[in-house]
Amino acid sequence: MKIDFSKNPDGLVPAIIQDANTKNVLMLGYMNEEALKTTKETQKVTFFSRSKQRLWTKGEESGNYLNLVDIKMDCDADTLLVLARPEGPTCHKGTDTCWGESNEQTFGFLSQLEGIIEERRLESERDSSSRRNDQSYVVSLFDKGINKIAQKVGEEAVETVIEAKDTNDELFLNESADLLFHLLILLKAKGFGLNDVVKVLQSRH
Ligand code: AMP
Ligand code: ZN
Ligand code: ZN
Ligand code: ZN
Repeated sequence: MKIDFSKNPDGLVPAIIQDANTKNVLMLGYMNEEALKTTKETQKVTFFSRSKQRLWTKGEESGNYLNLVDIKMDCDADTLLVLARPEGPTCHKGTDTCWGESNEQTFGFLSQLEGIIEERRLESERDSSSRRNDQSYVVSLFDKGINKIAQKVGEEAVETVIEAKDTNDELFLNESADLLFHLLILLKAKGFGLNDVVKVLQSRH
């Protein structure tokens, strides 16, 4: 299928710009046929600016270019999804995205879980009289310190290994979950997060 520039009377199609790595939406612009052609030729995302009424290569003044990675069409060929690697902040107001958000990589539910673990770590740092969460297992782990948390990771790793040798899938998945959970706690106790580990993995890729 070929992109349909005739759907809009002005010959423009919306182009959603997505970070190729983090998958965050960076901005929305419009492209005509020439802008799309220029984008492919220069590998720098280029729009047709409705306010300037001319081709506009994002970053032409600021240097904050969007380097092309891939272009996808939607189901009925009237909208573009452009995957890019940004050089610097994409919004002219200085934020990473045009919605004022940072372009940090997130991991869905695992990031949500990391947030809760971080709350528990902060709770553990408070003195006991002002605590709201005295029953929390995670708070008690942070109280015991890094060595104890590391030991728990070791135990869960051994349990995962034992269950891997068995045929009970449920037990294996449960121990894997325990291992991942305790590793997230250990990372937080050391002042890191999942993001730091993923960056190392990506650098090897
Ligand atoms: P730049 O393409 O980054 O050199 O910016 C040139 C001009 O384009 C800026 O002064 C803004 O007027 C406009 N501009 C830049 N980035 C954006 C954006 N993400 N959304 C809308 N307008 C923008
Ligand atoms: Zn569509
Ligand atoms: Zn913006
Ligand atoms: Zn376990």
